[in-house]
Amino acid sequence: MGKNKRIYLSPPHMVADEKKFLLNAFHSNWIAPLGPHVDKFENEISNYINIVDACALSSGSAALHLAMRILGISSKDIVLCPSLTFAASANVILYENATPVFVDVDPRYWTVDLNALEYAIKKYKPKAFIAVDLYGQSCDYDLINDLCEKNNVKLIEDAAEGLGSEYKGEKCGNFGSLGVFSFNGNKIITTSGGGMLVSNNEDYIEKARFLSTQSREPEIHYEHKELGYNYRMSNLLAAIGRGQLKNLEDFIEKRRKIYKNYFDALSPIEGIDFMSQAEYCKSNHWLTTITVDQKITNLSRSQIIDNLEKENIESRPVWKPMHLQPLYKNCDYIKNGERDVSAELFMNGLCLPSGSNLSYQDQNRIIDIILSLF
Ligand SMILES: *Cc1c(COP(=O)(O)O)cnc(C)c1O
Repeated sequence: MGKNKRIYLSPPHMVADEKKFLLNAFHSNWIAPLGPHVDKFENEISNYINIVDACALSSGSAALHLAMRILGISSKDIVLCPSLTFAASANVILYENATPVFVDVDPRYWTVDLNALEYAIKKYKPKAFIAVDLYGQSCDYDLINDLCEKNNVKLIEDAAEGLGSEYKGEKCGNFGSLGVFSFNGNKIITTSGGGMLVSNNEDYIEKARFLSTQSREPEIHYEHKELGYNYRMSNLLAAIGRGQLKNLEDFIEKRRKIYKNYFDALSPIEGIDFMSQAEYCKSNHWLTTITVDQKITNLSRSQIIDNLEKENIESRPVWKPMHLQPLYKNCDYIKNGERDVSAELFMNGLCLPSGSNLSYQDQNRIIDIILSLF
């Protein structure tokens, strides 16, 4: 035991194109800042998503933060966000001293609960809502856009986990005023660290380019009227991103197969359930996630994690909801009725190794270990 090479949840997966582009950038001496690979990476992402414009940034968090700034979120505003997400989605609300209000998720799809969202919009009159495409599953954007437009709420799509997922045949990232992607090391493609802000509104993306370069005015000297940031992506990292993007369709295909293998092997077990696949979404299956009903299985989610860890395999609980985080303990939280779905999913939910470079032998080993526990 412990001799096997560690299997990670979602490690980087470099193929060959990354190195070619990276060396090209390196040999051109165009390491930073910005440069031709950044421009091309932005164009290639825009084309892939089928959106007007994109701005490459240092992280998905930076992209979310700029979305707040571009939409003019301030300390007077309330911003809604699903509770079940990574902290980055919510932290940017605090960056601008606005007030977050958390909304519960749907027990089938794990994305925002539409009844709770509608109630929260009526009650709080928020300025914006940050929708999250959780683990690659898109939200129901026809209904959400309707609700947001009627109530004058700005929509931001946090598609950090949803690159390549589709809602009714259109790529995720397309559904808010602004969309956000992450190229962090654990995401479906990575630049080691990076992000992208996308929009059909060119002015928004122009503003993002301005804010992300310290809001430098177009003068020969350094002139600043507005608060800015150093959030741009370097030419080297954009080169890696371009190589990764070439392999994205293969990566998605591989993750979908991984999901299917887990589903075929584990769904017959009484007490194990998979996140339901919404009929309007074609997921990239960034991570395969299950829930374990201990009352039926006599085995807890944590016992599965411990047993996999003994074999040097990484698995994790689903995101700890924001309304249970000490940082956000004073924030309001809106559920659809009595049930606290985010909290339940955190208690029972498990993310399984899903990297596109996970071999089928390794996946079968994971499956065998889990089956042996039942
Ligand atoms: C990864 C992630 C982010 C943040 O992206 P970084 O590039 O790590 O800053 C934001 N939201 C969600 C839902 C994420 O999973």
